[in-house]
Amino acid sequence: MVRLCKAYVWLICSMLIWGVVGSSVAAASNEPEQSQQDQQARQIAIVIDDFGNRMKGTEQMLQLPIKITVAVMPFLSTTKQDAEAAHQFGHDVIVHLPMEPIRGKASWLGPGAITTDLSDAEIRNRVEAAIADVPYAIGMNNHMGSRATSDLRVMRIVLQVCKEKGLFFLDSRTSYHTVVPKVSRELGMMTLHNDVFLDDVYTQTHVRKQISEVSKFLKTHDRCVVIGHVGSPGMVTSAVLKSAIPGLQNQASFVTLSQLLTAPPTPIMGRSNDKP
Ligand SMILES: [Zn+2]
Repeated sequence: MVRLCKAYVWLICSMLIWGVVGSSVAAASNEPEQSQQDQQARQIAIVIDDFGNRMKGTEQMLQLPIKITVAVMPFLSTTKQDAEAAHQFGHDVIVHLPMEPIRGKASWLGPGAITTDLSDAEIRNRVEAAIADVPYAIGMNNHMGSRATSDLRVMRIVLQVCKEKGLFFLDSRTSYHTVVPKVSRELGMMTLHNDVFLDDVYTQTHVRKQISEVSKFLKTHDRCVVIGHVGSPGMVTSAVLKSAIPGLQNQASFVTLSQLLTAPPTPIMGRSNDKP
């Protein structure tokens, strides 16, 4: 039953993110080429989602020879274990907060999910509890969430709690209608968003193709935030990533999200193509 639920969650997650990547990457080609000096200062941040539930590829991702950002779901069987292991490996830890999608049942999301039918007080309670449940968390991103991240009331509370706790927010951009850029501007918060999803199809061919999209993106941008997953694609994604690291290191330095935020060569906000 648990395995079936995980499969559903993954399927829906994949359906929702499919297509967002294409537009993000396509937008890159319109930007001007940058100088050789900028190229040397380029940064790539790998974020791996869906830790916390003994998912496939967990060890392989943690042992990659680069620093990554590990997004851990709260209230699951290995939430604390995965967060602590990631911290020991020197990776960043963020909360991977389950949030309501447009398609699919809220029950597929897992415990403590943020849904748009909750009261203001309950949303606040759940976000605070999720942060408290994931040791070493310094930021947050959304698991699914195409409905919740489009909802102004919900995101004002989620981002306000992040701000109070000193956490940054990475918008996984599962919706074209995300209000994260608008609300973060209102609150004066720095937020990030992903540029490329690595593994919405679970094959080596697809993940390699997405790595080449990352490479292409870095030719016209000074930073690239990339999201991959443990779980169904975990073994494939970790293996392809491992083999791609030396090539990508010729183009950019691998950094965690906190490093990206503390050493920004250009402003991070304002890059989203999303409509508010
Ligand atoms: Zn997820």
